[in-house]
Amino acid sequence: MKKYIYSFGGGTAEGGASDMNLLGGKGANLAEMATLGIPVPPGFTISTECCNYYLQTGGLYPENFEKEFDRALALVEKAMGKGFDDPDNPLLVSCRSGGRQSMPGMMETVLNVGLTTRTIQGLIRQTGDERFVYDSYRRLIMMYADVVMEKAEGLDPEKGFGIRARLETILNDWKKDRGYVSDTDIPARELLEICEQFKVTVKSVLKTEFPDSAKEQLMRAVGAVFKSWNGRRAVAYRRIENIADDWGTGVTVQSMVFGNMGDDSATGVAFTRNPATGENVFFGEWLVNAQGEDVVAGIRTPYPLNEETKTAENSRDPSLQSLMPEVYQELLDIRKTLESHYRDMQDIEFTIEKGRLFMLQCRVGKRTGTAALNMAMDMLEEGLISEVTAITRVRPQQLDELLHPVVDPQDEKHAEVLARGLPAGPGGAFGHIVFTPEDAVEWARAGKKVILVREETNPEDIEGMRSADGILTARGGMTSHAALVARGWGKCCVVGASALEIHVASRKIKVGDKVLKQGDLITLNGTKGLVYEDKLKMIDSMENPRFRMFMEKVDRYRTMGVRANADTADDARLALSYGADGIGLYRTEHMFYGSNSDEPLFLLRKMILSTSGRERRNALAALFPFMKREIKKTLEVMDGLPVTIRTLDPPLHEFVPHSKAQQAEIAKSLGIDPSEIRRRSEDLMETNPMMGHRGVRLGITYPEITEMQVRAVLEAAAELTVQGLRPQPEIMIPVTSEVQELVVVKRLVQKVYEEVTARYNLAGIVYKFGTMIETPRAALQADKMARVTEFFSFGTNDLTQMCFGLSRDDFGRFMTEYMDKKIIRDDPFQTLDRDGVGELMTIAVEKGRKSRVDLKIGICGEQGGDPDSVAFCFEKGMDYVSCSPYRLPIARLAAAQAQIRLDGNQGVHISPTHK
Ligand code: PEP
Ligand code: MG
Repeated sequence: MKKYIYSFGGGTAEGGASDMNLLGGKGANLAEMATLGIPVPPGFTISTECCNYYLQTGGLYPENFEKEFDRALALVEKAMGKGFDDPDNPLLVSCRSGGRQSMPGMMETVLNVGLTTRTIQGLIRQTGDERFVYDSYRRLIMMYADVVMEKAEGLDPEKGFGIRARLETILNDWKKDRGYVSDTDIPARELLEICEQFKVTVKSVLKTEFPDSAKEQLMRAVGAVFKSWNGRRAVAYRRIENIADDWGTGVTVQSMVFGNMGDDSATGVAFTRNPATGENVFFGEWLVNAQGEDVVAGIRTPYPLNEETKTAENSRDPSLQSLMPEVYQELLDIRKTLESHYRDMQDIEFTIEKGRLFMLQCRVGKRTGTAALNMAMDMLEEGLISEVTAITRVRPQQLDELLHPVVDPQDEKHAEVLARGLPAGPGGAFGHIVFTPEDAVEWARAGKKVILVREETNPEDIEGMRSADGILTARGGMTSHAALVARGWGKCCVVGASALEIHVASRKIKVGDKVLKQGDLITLNGTKGLVYEDKLKMIDSMENPRFRMFMEKVDRYRTMGVRANADTADDARLALSYGADGIGLYRTEHMFYGSNSDEPLFLLRKMILSTSGRERRNALAALFPFMKREIKKTLEVMDGLPVTIRTLDPPLHEFVPHSKAQQAEIAKSLGIDPSEIRRRSEDLMETNPMMGHRGVRLGITYPEITEMQVRAVLEAAAELTVQGLRPQPEIMIPVTSEVQELVVVKRLVQKVYEEVTARYNLAGIVYKFGTMIETPRAALQADKMARVTEFFSFGTNDLTQMCFGLSRDDFGRFMTEYMDKKIIRDDPFQTLDRDGVGELMTIAVEKGRKSRVDLKIGICGEQGGDPDSVAFCFEKGMDYVSCSPYRLPIARLAAAQAQIRLDGNQGVHISPTHK
């Protein structure tokens, strides 16, 4: 019979950390901690398989489940010496969710399950603390009504009218009317009255009684936690994080331990190292006389864990280290045990019940990119992990964050700080103030940079947080929801900026006597926790020496080449500084855009609008020196490294002049009437220019255009060779679909080659001749294409466009709908579509290499900088990927990790072969 329930506690456990898929992260790690002898309250975990069964059958449990459940509960009762639903000595339990991958705050938890009119008196007798019992009861009613009776029943009241909000209002009004500052000021008798009011409200709003049977509470709580896997927040989060819908959640039913039993009780969360910076210090937050959720929810701003991590903001708050030194020492020992066992930074939750410490959770902690890198390097130096592990510890996307802008310190020096908070998410960001997640989504969609400003965030804000460039909250600590989520995404975030008075209704923030409105610009420094008015300058954060050391190690494991798409000598220099092995795509047409392009553009236009061969040749001759100079500059910067230079690709009408003045100027230069220019321009118009007269087709119709470019490349290379340099140009022909196109162009290239070598009196010039593979037909004809070329470069922008039969410029308009409806998972213009485009590439690689074993193959479409696409290119045995200079470190790390995966994490050193 299949097993669905796994028990833990008292120094033993069924299952452990390796059972993450079956038990979810929380269940698996609780079992592991129990086995390590760390104090965890006893309990059991119901498997993710049971969750899937429950959800698929619309709420049924598998055969034998009940028996297993009763047996597991009896074990907990025995370990605790208490009975569930026992009126004399009652056991209370928590029901917690826990997926395979952490989804902070996205699913539900119910605490204090088992408190009923039958058990309340028993618990009061046992604890001698009436106040504590009613405090727990009011928490149970609020949580249970919200999670089990409302959300799990599919009720979706309007914002602010949910049962939790209503009950919170009762509690807040109660405190306000009587002048209480904190929940802990409310005396026991009044808490009882509040509980009664809560129950009346639950009945009148939800139309059913709050259940007074312990068993009913428990079974419905388990079901509700299962159902929360399909809650709106959880589903939205899975979309963003690419978590599969069929993983399901585990439910851990665990004996309650209480952090709200007086001043010798507490609850807290901590990271074994600083998750924002990676620094090797114990870092956390805690609250006296509180229950778990209070810390994460940001209801009270928690205290710092120790003296070392105090900041100017919280220097007066008591630390756990100073108030409960013995417990702190025990926690420090557990920190050490956990780090040396898991060999990674852990995120932990603990509760102290009357001076006794219990661990409620541990999991690998989320961290910023900076922290991931620093921790990997530190742990390597400490001998905790191997070099291979260090390299796999940083996700390629996280490097992006390291390369992201920070507030310019110069600019910052002169700016006045508007408010201070905690540095919860790295880097800098500026944007327009918005107050609701809905506005954040809408404004960002309209192309605006926004900072989402909230009193505190909750999991419902997730989509708005995603859309915002930065997040700012007035309340909450480093482990509040906003901080956890922002850090996971590497998003700039400042929390707990308590000087901010946020008025959502009037869309205003008051800070002292200043008032900021919706739409005003502010800047955040998420690394320091500072807020500024207006927009400050941002700069790159590349100077980190740790980053360079890390990338050196990465390159030692990388076998696939990583090149840059770069169109100017400046781009080439940037590419080298980011570690490029060469240039994989030099788009010649870029010399006709941007600065210093006026003259070459004028000559190009003249050439385009020429009708006779003689006119065109004259214009080309005038253009030639510009082309040669630009190419030569780039070849010089990249000396000794390959530079793939693509011949002119775009349809010519893209360059046609539109203003009357420009048309007149060209007309004058050609000695014709401006109306003739307009007529010739009209002749060049195409219905589908991206599928029209472009790429190699231009060279077939106007061979003189290709000839001029090939001459520019070869003469530039010849002159550099004469100077003693080692240029390595690669001439690449775009948009080919038939081998005969290449045969014709190759003949031309050979003719020019002979002329240039003769002219410069050289025995030879090093160069290669190749084609882009960016039409499906080229991929299918790859065997033939490879007979006349030495390299292929996949132009996966065009290949994706033509494979799907949809324009890359129009796709954005309906792409989100395709993704929302799960028709496709990723944007194929960002992440290679393995099934379609990938299949064409596979055919091309196989056929191409069959014709020519040493055929060099790369990719230069946008996907070349995407980690998953890099892994695909590696798996297909390609020689290199090429991407924008800023994405080079990401591609380098992704390529190294792909090699490490192939080696089975053996840690073998491979000498690079990619250059
Ligand atoms: C491509 O099609 O992938 C490519 C690199 O060329 P372009 O984007 O310039 O068409
Ligand atoms: Mg293309």
